Amino acid sequence: VVIDLEFGDLMEEKEKKSMAYQLGICYSANCKAVVPAQIHVTGLGSGMGDVVRKVCSGVEHWAVHMSDETYLESPALAERKTNLVYLTADSEHELEDFKDDEVYIIGGIVDRNRYKNLTLNKANEQGIRHARLPIRDHLKMSGTHVLTVNQTLDIIHAQLELRDWDQAMDRAVPMRK
Ligand code: SAH
Repeated sequence: VVIDLEFGDLMEEKEKKSMAYQLGICYSANCKAVVPAQIHVTGLGSGMGDVVRKVCSGVEHWAVHMSDETYLESPALAERKTNLVYLTADSEHELEDFKDDEVYIIGGIVDRNRYKNLTLNKANEQGIRHARLPIRDHLKMSGTHVLTVNQTLDIIHAQLELRDWDQAMDRAVPMRK
């Protein structure tokens, strides 16, 4: 899983802090996950690096690949470009399941969805595949179907463990009653 932090310029200070805080939640969730993901945090060069170092104490000891480079600049990821799948709520493709040989990118941005299609357009411009989680089929959420970064990772963890979207969604994003 790649957490793409290239969006530093599009966030206000408060949103950047909130993004860094979510990154901390992602890290501890991954440490506790029954089936953890291999996590790459990329794009720290675009304004998020300092915030992350400030908000996430101990980040220098995290067992995570952290890079100032973007995922396309990172040789290990760029050479797997055809296996990259950008997860985005705006995609017309619905993800069937996670596959071992694919790398899933989560957009590391807190924007209360004011940037519609931001990650969809990015994936299209870069010629990267994209998919949305099968949320609408599984969760009759009253509000939005756009999740936060850590909710998205929670769903990945739950699905990798349970291999059942209904159960995974239920556990990761309990329905509001
Ligand atoms: N306007 C932003 C929204 C960011 S939400 C955008 O254009 O992406 C943070 C990230 O969580 C998204 O970039 C995406 O990677 C992931 N995400 C949220 N809801 C999702 C969904 N329904 N399906 C797939 N990925 C989702």
